[in-house]
Amino acid sequence: MCTTCGCSQPAEAVTVQLVGLKQKDAILKAGGVHAQRQQRGHHHPSHETGVAVQVEGQDPQLLQLELDILGENNRLAERNRGYFEAKNILALNLVSSPGSGKTSLLERTLRELQAELPCAVIEGDQQTTNDADRIAATGAPVVQINTGKGCHLDAAMVRRALKPLNPPSDSLLFIENVGNLVCPALFELGEAVRVAIISVTEGDDKPLKYPDIFHSAQVVVVNKIDLLPYVPFSLDALRHNLSRVSHNPRVICLSAYTGEGVEAWYQWLRDTFSSHQA
Ligand code: MG
Repeated sequence: MCTTCGCSQPAEAVTVQLVGLKQKDAILKAGGVHAQRQQRGHHHPSHETGVAVQVEGQDPQLLQLELDILGENNRLAERNRGYFEAKNILALNLVSSPGSGKTSLLERTLRELQAELPCAVIEGDQQTTNDADRIAATGAPVVQINTGKGCHLDAAMVRRALKPLNPPSDSLLFIENVGNLVCPALFELGEAVRVAIISVTEGDDKPLKYPDIFHSAQVVVVNKIDLLPYVPFSLDALRHNLSRVSHNPRVICLSAYTGEGVEAWYQWLRDTFSSHQA
C-alpha cells in the first residue's frame, strides 16, 4: 500500500458503472478509508520478515493506520464472502500485470462456458469501460469499477458493485482486478480463489520479483503459450521460481488467443465449482 502509486486516491473519485445491464448507468461513491491516507508516507512491507520497512522518512503512525485500513477491508471481505456463500457463488479474483490477457481469457471463457455455468463479471480499471464493453458483448452481466488513480480493487468497491450486478445464485463470479502485481495482493475481496495470470511475454522471474501476489494465489494461469517459440520464457524456470515463493499452486498453461489448453482451465473451473458446492 503506498501513496505514490495512487492508493491514496480520494474515495469520491471511485465510480461504479453499469455496463450491459438494463439499469441505467450509476455512479456510486466508495468508502472513505482511502481518503484518510492522503499526505501520508510511503512504505512497503517486507515479504521475508513481515516487518514494515520504511523507504522514506515517515510518520510513525502510518503502520497502525494501514493495519486499520486492512482490518476494515478484511471485515468487508468477510461480508462479501458470506454473500457469496449464501448464494452459492464461486468468486474468483483475477490478478496480473497489465496486458497479461485477463480480459481476453474471460471473453473466451464466457463464450464457451456460460451456457453450462452461469457467470457474472466485475471489471476493475483505472479508467474507461473498454473491458466491460468487451465482456458485455459476450452476453454476461458485468459491472465496471473505475478506480481513478487507485491501483487495486478493495472489498468495499466490490460490495457496491454487487448490488447493481446481482449475480445469479449457483454461478461463477469473475472479478478482474486492476492490472498491478503489488497492491492487489494486500486486499481481500471475499473471493474463494485468487488466480494469478502471467503471460510468456513477461519474465519467468516475475514470482521472485512480486512474491506476495504469487504467494497468495491458489492457481497460476500461464497465458499466450502460442508465443513460446518466439520469446525467452522457460516454463521450467517459472515453475521453479513459483516453488520458491508459493505452496504448490496449480499451474495451467494456455493460449486465450488460439484456445490451446483452455479445456484444462474450464475443467478446473468445473471441478472447483463442484467442490465449492459440497
Ligand atoms: Mg483487462
